[in-house]
Amino acid sequence: MKKALLLIGLIFTCFLSAQDDLSLDYYLPQQLTYDPSIPKPIDIIGHEVGEWHVTHDKLMFYMQALAEASDRITIENRGTTFEGRPILLLTVTSPENHGRLEEIRQQHLALSEAGGSNTNVENMPIVVYQGFSVHGNEPSGANAGLAYAYYLAAAQGPEIDEMLKNSVILMDPSYNPDGLQRFAYWANTNRNMNLTADNNDREYHEVWPGGRTNHYWFDINRDWLPVQLPESRARIKTFHRWLPNILTDHHEMGTNSTFFYQPGEPTRVHPLTPKLNQELTAEIGTYHAQALDKIGSLYYSEENYDDYYYGKGSTFPDVVGSIGILFEQASSRGHIQESENGVLTFPFTIRNQFTTALSTVEAAQKMRTKLLNYQRDFYRDLRSEAGRSKTKAFLFGDEKDGAKAWHLAEILERQNIDIHELGQDITLGGKRYKKGNSYVVPLEQKNHRLIRAMFEKRTTFTDSLFYDISAWTFPLAFNLDYAELTSLSNAGPRIGELKELPGSVSGESPYAYLFEWHEYYTPKALNQILEKGLRAKVAQYPFSMNGVNYDYGTVMIPVQNQVLGKRELYEFLTGVAKDSHIRITAVNTGQTQGIDLGSGDFEPVKKQKVALIVGEGIRSYDAGEIWHLFDTRYQITLTKIDTEYLGRADLSSYTDIIIPGTWGSAGLNKSSTEKLKEWVKAGGTLIGYRNTANWFDKNEFLDLNFKKDSLVAKNVTFGKRQDFRGAQVTGGAIFEARIDRSHPINFGYKNNTLALFRNTNIYLEPEKDSYNNPIQYTPSPLLSGYISEENAALISNSTPFKVSSMGKGKVILFTDNTNFRAFWYGTNKLLMNAIFFGDMM
Ligand SMILES: [Zn+2]
Repeated sequence: MKKALLLIGLIFTCFLSAQDDLSLDYYLPQQLTYDPSIPKPIDIIGHEVGEWHVTHDKLMFYMQALAEASDRITIENRGTTFEGRPILLLTVTSPENHGRLEEIRQQHLALSEAGGSNTNVENMPIVVYQGFSVHGNEPSGANAGLAYAYYLAAAQGPEIDEMLKNSVILMDPSYNPDGLQRFAYWANTNRNMNLTADNNDREYHEVWPGGRTNHYWFDINRDWLPVQLPESRARIKTFHRWLPNILTDHHEMGTNSTFFYQPGEPTRVHPLTPKLNQELTAEIGTYHAQALDKIGSLYYSEENYDDYYYGKGSTFPDVVGSIGILFEQASSRGHIQESENGVLTFPFTIRNQFTTALSTVEAAQKMRTKLLNYQRDFYRDLRSEAGRSKTKAFLFGDEKDGAKAWHLAEILERQNIDIHELGQDITLGGKRYKKGNSYVVPLEQKNHRLIRAMFEKRTTFTDSLFYDISAWTFPLAFNLDYAELTSLSNAGPRIGELKELPGSVSGESPYAYLFEWHEYYTPKALNQILEKGLRAKVAQYPFSMNGVNYDYGTVMIPVQNQVLGKRELYEFLTGVAKDSHIRITAVNTGQTQGIDLGSGDFEPVKKQKVALIVGEGIRSYDAGEIWHLFDTRYQITLTKIDTEYLGRADLSSYTDIIIPGTWGSAGLNKSSTEKLKEWVKAGGTLIGYRNTANWFDKNEFLDLNFKKDSLVAKNVTFGKRQDFRGAQVTGGAIFEARIDRSHPINFGYKNNTLALFRNTNIYLEPEKDSYNNPIQYTPSPLLSGYISEENAALISNSTPFKVSSMGKGKVILFTDNTNFRAFWYGTNKLLMNAIFFGDMM
């Protein structure tokens, strides 16, 4: 034991002195000369690469300095993160190529167009997109970027000249500026001057929520397809502008691992990805292997990681004719850490990332014509595939809601997919599609396969293990009506650029205003109205007047006895309608067919004050999704209360408290639990998500009957035990529920069924009284994605929603995530209904 300690001590000294002597030479190929006029990282950021964790602002300063000093590099700012940091891109190529960059880009794009097969690729540069540290607390990538960008600017010799002549490198120095900054702050503020490799040190244990995610705690590496976040919006624009041949994504994994590069598990590749893509990925891998062999680093591939969900940076390129490559480096997290492979230093992790950034461009050089031809052939094959397709277009829309359809159209526009207006109103499959609220997506177009990836439903799979979600069918996520068209006869003109969403009030009223609850932004409008101190009521039943039908949940604002006069009210509502893109109707009588406007069946709606429980014990993703929804979509002020602080907070002013998905128990101690219970009894509405179900049940907020199976492994070997367990995970699939539209939780939904996203295995027995099951899964509810046979039996007829009274308050439970990753627009309204109409349930 003592000997071992002594040995570790020696290693420490050795590494510490290595760190003391740390210089850029540790990373760079030594046989080259470097241009002395190019500033080294230390000249700008004040420390050696790997000595400290680079903050995003220092990273940015260095990249700007390089662009200034080098005629090989230009820099652009493509937008800002939520926290206002620039989203930078470096374009690196020979000075000659810079002189004709737009021409190179046009030629590159033309290669994948019809007629591209005549293009000679012999002298065509290859386009490589290299991005770093999308997870902010996986910092070796972004830190390697310092040395890598220096190398690109300063390395000299015929080889580098040749490489720059033959490539355009799009370097994205930080995929996640806000997360990188948050993590660098943590690692640096906890750094010991005498570095300690002891895993127990605070340096290696970030506080909640950690630096992985962006400002609203989203995993940006799930957003390449739905593009809801500013970081991915900037990136996807660059991607479609350039259509790179290779895109790399440098990550980190557990400290005891080594280094991974794709290809991953051969059986876990999305079926829309061509086989040749994986073969080329493997060939590129041989360059990584050689390079890592040279520096003595251990590595592996073809295990662990899949290539399935196209929302990931390393998988998205595979559906659009590029090759996406995932790198995973064992993380030192802070500056130096003990591991099963010896002491792991931060510089060592940086060097592996640097080395594979170089082997990527080397592979790109050696495989240049092969990869260019692959991309050309990929699109040629797609053109004939699209031509053979019986389905000629997808149609989607919502008769009652223009905004949701508009937001899906917006995603398609960002993904470089052509969309058309609907020529005229039509009815298909019992659903009415209204011009203006509906869009036609022709399948015969360049990104044919990407459209399929977004619209298809898939329920059969070759493997039962998924690293992430198994379904993301966009029209279901948006709860839109959609249909396959066998001709383009209903397509109107192509939409060049989506126009801003409309919003209007039909006129000034002496009596009352009405708006149905279906439109996506109605909660934003209602909140604005209540904030102003105006009275509003909600219709418990449908009615009609002046030949117009008004559904459950219609909001009515009377003109009499308000804080605003008749004229001001009209002007105010006009602003609200524009802001929230809704249509408000002015009426001049209270008489209707059905409930009259003065009826007791119009319930008053109160101004809501909402708190969100965050912090240790809470799933930061789920909390962030809710925070983002309130803050950016509905502009409803939300108070984030930390689980640690809850015991000290005065809760009496809140009408609603939300507990997002939790890790294990909710992170709430006994006194906080009691406090919440008293608060509910006094009239509060407590809303819990996912496994908060168990906490509600255990602490007697709700009395729940869980459906459970007694799964026993039969004929499963020890070696296969993980696959057996893994197959029971519902990683993310879409299920159909029948809804009772008369229940306030379902106000604003026009159909009798609803698609729900689910990534839990919590199954609840329905209640005996049918009216207590306003949302219930159908007998065979799977719409898209993977679920095991055992769980498919459990979900049948189960219920994902419960509401129960407690004292004067309510407890509401959703077993499923209705706010998933900012793009599940279709079920956002359920949470808003719980907030605004919880008292009526
Ligand atoms: Zn990662």
